[in-house]
Amino acid sequence: MSLCQHCSAPLPANTDKCIYCGARNDVDLHAKLDYDVVRQQSERLCPHCEKPLQTIDLHLDGAFLIERCEDCFGLFFDPGQIETLLESSVSHVFEINLEHLDNINKDRFQGNKPVKYVKCPVCHVLMNRNAYGYRSGVIIDRCRNHGVWLDSGEITHLMEWKKAGGQLLQDKHAASENRKAESNHRAMSSQTNNVLDYRVDADELDIFNAVAAVITKLF
Ligand SMILES: [Zn+2]
Ligand SMILES: [Zn+2]
Ligand SMILES: [Zn+2]
Repeated sequence: MSLCQHCSAPLPANTDKCIYCGARNDVDLHAKLDYDVVRQQSERLCPHCEKPLQTIDLHLDGAFLIERCEDCFGLFFDPGQIETLLESSVSHVFEINLEHLDNINKDRFQGNKPVKYVKCPVCHVLMNRNAYGYRSGVIIDRCRNHGVWLDSGEITHLMEWKKAGGQLLQDKHAASENRKAESNHRAMSSQTNNVLDYRVDADELDIFNAVAAVITKLF
């Protein structure tokens, strides 16, 4: 469990606001990711506070610039950057720990968080709300053209999800969905073949006619 940076009281996983001193904590960057502020005010606006976001550099294999709100500590990533960050900070996961995944979601569940559509920091069009990854429990705000907004704490949640094997579980899930789609497709095309068989096979055609006759009688 992390501690409040102001009064050192324990800080539960589902909040960045200390219940003892009321201070907001930057739970994502403080003591976790090394960063420099490149520009104090970018042209991008925080979707919650509507103030200019800072541009910060996380230094992953060279410059890695994202935007950050100094007030609510939300982060804005260009398309693909979250995947890169997760890849570089959480690697070598070979096991899926379902119990741990459930616990992460329970600990981090923010029951009082209102559902709210927010504007893209770049184009100011309302963003879509999507679940990030399979069973991650994180709902992200995404602009198809400009990137993804994460509220304070969500990148930490995604890192824990990936560490507990969430990404592996997602890959497995995607593979089984693909297999299902493929076997459905095969079943469909074999049905089509059966229909063609009826046309050429006289015996089958008789059965078909008999069934058709019964159905006609029924109605
Ligand atoms: Zn505190
Ligand atoms: Zn903000
Ligand atoms: Zn946009």
